[in-house]
Amino acid sequence: MTNMIDYGLSSLLETPWQIKNLILPIKDEKLFVVVLSTNEKLRDELELIYKKPIKFVICQKKQLQKEFLNFDIKLKLYEIKEEFIKQNKDSDTLLINSFIDILIRFTIEQNSSDIHIESQKSFLTIRYRVDGILRTIINITSNIQKPISSVLKLISKLDISIVRLPQDGAFEKRIDGINYSFRTSVVPTIYGESIVLRILNNQNLYKDIDTIGLNCVETIKDIVDKKQGFVLITGATGSGKTTTLYAIIKYLNQKNNQNKKIITIEDPVEYRIDGVTQINIDNSIDLSFDKILENILRQDPDIIMIGEIRDRYSLQLAIEASLTGHMVLSTIHTNSALETIDRLLNFKVKPYLIVSSLKLIVSQQLKLKLCESCKIYKDGLYIKVGCPSCAYSGYKGRAVVDEVLKIDDKLQKYIMKRYSKNKIIKKLKNSFVSIQERIKQKIKEGVFDK
Ligand SMILES: [Zn+2]
Repeated sequence: MTNMIDYGLSSLLETPWQIKNLILPIKDEKLFVVVLSTNEKLRDELELIYKKPIKFVICQKKQLQKEFLNFDIKLKLYEIKEEFIKQNKDSDTLLINSFIDILIRFTIEQNSSDIHIESQKSFLTIRYRVDGILRTIINITSNIQKPISSVLKLISKLDISIVRLPQDGAFEKRIDGINYSFRTSVVPTIYGESIVLRILNNQNLYKDIDTIGLNCVETIKDIVDKKQGFVLITGATGSGKTTTLYAIIKYLNQKNNQNKKIITIEDPVEYRIDGVTQINIDNSIDLSFDKILENILRQDPDIIMIGEIRDRYSLQLAIEASLTGHMVLSTIHTNSALETIDRLLNFKVKPYLIVSSLKLIVSQQLKLKLCESCKIYKDGLYIKVGCPSCAYSGYKGRAVVDEVLKIDDKLQKYIMKRYSKNKIIKKLKNSFVSIQERIKQKIKEGVFDK
C-alpha cells in the first residue's frame, strides 16, 4: 500500500500538523482521497481541504511513524521528480543532478555504505544500507529511472547507450569539504536496471584502532610493531575486517612517522591514506593480484598489506615476504580463528612455513547493538522495541566481537602436529575466549539481544 505514496497530496497539508496527527494521504481517486491514518477523527477537516470524501485506511502507529522518518527528504525528492516530469525535457539534467545530490548527501549523513536504485514492475525503489541493513527512502514513479540512470552513467564514465549489459564505473564527489569515491554498478533486470552505488572512503571505514572496540588491541599493537611477521584478520563478509586492517595501517603509519614504507594491494582501494603506497588491482589492463605481488618486494617495503589471501599462491608470497623481513597484514574469509588454521593447511602449504611466519589470527564479527534509547528489560533479558532514533528497528550501530589466537610455542606445536580444531580448543581451554562466549556476555550486559 505504501509502495506508491503520492507525496504531492501532502502539499495541501501543513507538515507539522500532518506529522503530529499521523495523516498520510496516499492516493487521489476519482471520487475520494485515500489516507493512511491511525484514527478517523480528522475526517471533516480533511474533507474540507481535499473537497472530496476521505477513505481512511487504519494502520499501526509504528508503521506510520516509520513513513514519516526523513519526511522532508522524501518530499524534496518527490518535488524534484514532479518538476522534472512537468518540464518534460529529458535533456535537462539540472534537476536530476540535484535529485542525486540530495540523495547522496542524505545517505552519507546516515552513515550508509551503499545506495540501491532498483526498477520494480511499476515503480522505482530507492534504498540505502545502514549497519548492514537496507532501508527504503522512497518509492517513486518509474518515469524518472532512465534520466537518473543516464546521469549516473555519465558521471561514472559509462556508456549511456548500453542498457542490456552490466557495467562498472566510478566517480568522485566533494561533500562538505570531504572527498567521497563511489563505485557504480549497473545490472539489467527484468524491469529495467538495478543501480548500486558503493560509497567508498567513508570516514566510518577509517577509524583509530583504539576506537573500533576490539578486545585484543594491545596484542595487535605488540605484534605489528615488530619488524617482521604475518598477521591475519578473519571473518565473514561484512564483519569489519577491512576496517580493522585500515586501522592497523593508520596506527603504523602514524607511529612510524614516514620512517617505514607501507605498501597496500587492494581490490579496490577503499580509503586513501597519505604517506602509504596504495596499489589498485586492475584486471582490465592485466594488473592482476599475482603480478603486483611478484613485483612488490622490489619496491623495498617494510610493511605490506594484502587485501585478501585468496589462494595458495597469495599465501605463499605472504609467507615468503614475512620470512624475508617484512610485516605482512592480510585478511582471509573464515568464520573463526581456529578454522583459519585448517584453511591455511588446506592450501597445502607446509605447516613449518605457516608456524614460522604467522604470529597472530584475529577473528571478528559485527553484531547489531540494541538501541540505547528504547531497549527494555523483560524476563531477565534486554529486548528491542523501536523508536525514531533507530528508525523503528530497535537496533542502533554495530559492535565488533573478536577472538584472538597468538601463535606461541604451544600453538606452533599443535599446528605442526595438525591437531583438530576441537583438540586445540581443549588444549587452550583457559587462555582462549571465543566469539560465542563474548557474545553471551554482551547479551547479559544488554548490548545485544538474543
Ligand atoms: Zn530505538
